[in-house]
Amino acid sequence: MKMNTMTSMMKPKPKAQTGKTPQRRCVGCREKKDKAILVRIVFSGGVLAIDRSAKASGRGVYVCRSIACLTKAQKSKGLERSMKCSFQPEIYVQLIHLYKAEVER
Ligand SMILES: [Zn+2]
Repeated sequence: MKMNTMTSMMKPKPKAQTGKTPQRRCVGCREKKDKAILVRIVFSGGVLAIDRSAKASGRGVYVCRSIACLTKAQKSKGLERSMKCSFQPEIYVQLIHLYKAEVER
């Protein structure tokens, strides 16, 4: 009995970018890092949220998994510049709270 008919049809797709992880710039320290290790933050529905799926719509920025970088981004207004809006301090308080929970998991 032939069981491998299906699998032989599904050839692995050739990878478009071999060995290259997309790079994104952290809005805190301004360093370019692998997208995979950064946390994506999106502004949607009037709040800043952590986008774990990295697929949420809206303008997103990337920050290292570090509260220090998030704080830097807040102080330098990097988030506001990247997202082209300004945020109330409460929005940051909320975000930092979420962020801590995220990075300290
Ligand atoms: Zn950083």
